[in-house]
Amino acid sequence: MIEVRLLGAINRPGVVQVDESLTFKQLLEEYGGGMLRKYPRPVVMQVGGPLGPIVRGSRINDRVRDHAPEIRTTRMVAFFGERFCPVDFLGFLTRFLVREARIDTPHVRGVHRTVGEIAGGRSDRAALERLRDLAAARGALSHGERRMNALIDDLMDIFADDFAEHVEARYCHFGVCRILFHHNAPCSNTCPSNMNVPGYIELIKHDRLEDAYTLMKQDNPLSFVCGKVCPAPCETRCRQGDISGVSVAIRQLKRYIADDRLAASTEYYEDRLPARDQRVAVVGGGPAGVSAAFYLAKTGYQVHIYEAQHRLGGMLAYGIPAYRLANHDIEAELAFLGKMGVAVHLGTRVGEDVPLSRLRAEHDAVLLATGRWVGRKMGPASPQVESAADFLWAVKQGERSSVPEKVVVIGGGAVAMDCAMTAPRLGGHATLVSLEQRAEMLVPAYEVEEAVEDGVELLNGWSVKEFVSDGDRLRKLVLQRCVRVFDDEFRFAPEFDPNELLEIEADLVISAVGQDADLGYLDDDIAVDERRRLVLDSAFRTSVEGVFAAGDIKAPGLVISAVGEGKRAAMSIDLYLGGSGIHFGRSIEVPETRLDPRIWDFQREEAAKLSAEERVRGFAEVESTFSYDQAHAEAKRCMRCDRNSLQELHLRTFPGKEGMSSWT
Ligand SMILES: Cc1cc2nc3c(=O)[nH]c(=O)nc-3n(C[C@H](O)[C@H](O)[C@H](O)COP(=O)(O)OP(=O)(O)OC[C@H]3O[C@@H](n4cnc5c(N)ncnc54)[C@H](O)[C@@H]3O)c2cc1C
Ligand code: SF4
Repeated sequence: MIEVRLLGAINRPGVVQVDESLTFKQLLEEYGGGMLRKYPRPVVMQVGGPLGPIVRGSRINDRVRDHAPEIRTTRMVAFFGERFCPVDFLGFLTRFLVREARIDTPHVRGVHRTVGEIAGGRSDRAALERLRDLAAARGALSHGERRMNALIDDLMDIFADDFAEHVEARYCHFGVCRILFHHNAPCSNTCPSNMNVPGYIELIKHDRLEDAYTLMKQDNPLSFVCGKVCPAPCETRCRQGDISGVSVAIRQLKRYIADDRLAASTEYYEDRLPARDQRVAVVGGGPAGVSAAFYLAKTGYQVHIYEAQHRLGGMLAYGIPAYRLANHDIEAELAFLGKMGVAVHLGTRVGEDVPLSRLRAEHDAVLLATGRWVGRKMGPASPQVESAADFLWAVKQGERSSVPEKVVVIGGGAVAMDCAMTAPRLGGHATLVSLEQRAEMLVPAYEVEEAVEDGVELLNGWSVKEFVSDGDRLRKLVLQRCVRVFDDEFRFAPEFDPNELLEIEADLVISAVGQDADLGYLDDDIAVDERRRLVLDSAFRTSVEGVFAAGDIKAPGLVISAVGEGKRAAMSIDLYLGGSGIHFGRSIEVPETRLDPRIWDFQREEAAKLSAEERVRGFAEVESTFSYDQAHAEAKRCMRCDRNSLQELHLRTFPGKEGMSSWT
């Protein structure tokens, strides 16, 4: 037996006596009460006090005995979740060494200074190299200094991208390094495009919707679209949500402003710098390409978008179903491109209609933003088996207006849900087969509820074992039970019970199990890795000078992440072309008013929605915009974290009091 103090983002910190044969996972779950519910994944563990080694979360099945020598020295194991910021950790460590352990040496001070520059936004890549050099220092160092060096090395290996993000984007996505906090509020810092959320919410209260819209457009040129379809990661970190359990309806407030101003507002695109000679080619007119084009055109560059399809919008126009986002809404939002002088070449597939090498020769920089359009397909080659991308594409173009009676959708994510909810609108009965249990599906819970109300049947915890055909005709699927989806190390590694089988009939199978990027149009000198992924650095640069890439082509994401990446790629391109920064527009003053003292009494407003019966009748938009009174009532729920407090709270659930919570 060994005595261990359990610490970190866990529910039951404290001292326990445990058998050395236990795994960290058992230690965490059986003795520590699991991770805090907001940060469920142990990203790293630290064994043996503040100077003990850092162990990757993927080694959760290591046994206590594997680390017994370190644990015995200080009897500590700490579990850190998704908010573990390695820069902040090193800041703490160096202060601890100087103040508590009295190791006040030039070496520790040097590390402390460099880490302070990184956390304080006063650094560049050279600071990271300096930190590596400091960690490599040998010679007359104390044991504490040597341990610190080893920790720096480990952290810089595990969190290489995050260190780069701190120095290059001056951003701490963990929301920990206070100076790097965007707009000083957890919602803004979490938003992948860092919108000034408390700013535009405050402006609603003052009926200054034109200013609010201009402010929104400064960080997100697709604010209107995002008001309709963004899953709102900002709301998951809203401080009002931490306290009352119900976040501010940020997306709906954005939608209220954008609905009002979309047709009338001109300032956001008219306010741009004088034209300059340099030309930039953007390949792909989806959210990432459009966002980059907007910022580059605002800054005076001559921008040409080359788009394979006959409409702009990418997956907005060809994936997201019309009941959530109609094509006329996308056209209305993207009208600014023409007004800004962006040249749009529709129906131009780069690699077929024009080689990439020619765009590189004719432009000063090129951005690749071609998303992921190759749907992964399961099952036999048959007209009865379609990929989700092909199915949704045909429906949105009006090329498909019916489905057969029994539609089976395979997949547990948002795209699968869109297919399943489209089928009843085309007269079919949809069954959704997913490996994940209902609570594990990567879809907001309200959307799953809505799908069930629309008549979608959920078969959670099943996988397709066999497609059974009668001659050329697909008849049914044999499913087998999926007992778990992820392994202990949080990797996708589904396990099945071959003895528990189920047969379901199918006239049409839609495979919604992911999409890949088609990189066939790339020139040979642009590097891809062994898994055929584009090699990119944190400034969106490919291996070739002057060629950048952003959006889903890099990794599947959201509209708002593609917009944010398009913005940051535009900043990199401007830097590359010798510019002095992207032009965002005038500074908009946000008034300082006091919070309504009844802030805790207000209930979250809910937008009106069509009933299930109305929904399945066709593709009419399901959700409405807030009324004036709703928007004003909801805006009052914002706590103005930008001026009251920066960081979100950490909810801790107390054992035996499920449903109750407090904060530390
Ligand atoms: C069905 C579905 C539903 C979704 N729902 C949501 C949602 O509700 N909310 C949300 O936030 N996100 C949603 N997403 C994700 C979101 O749509 C994407 O993250 C986003 O569109 C990525 O933007 P992008 O510009 O990187 O790529 P895309 O939107 O894919 O745009 C890429 C563009 O490049 C063009 N292109 C490709 N190859 C070439 C070539 N060789 N030459 C020229 N042009 C080319 C394509 O035609 C396309 O227009 C959904 C995705 C899908 C598939
Ligand atoms: S209370 Fe307001 S400022 Fe604070 S996180 Fe929520 S929306 Fe943002």
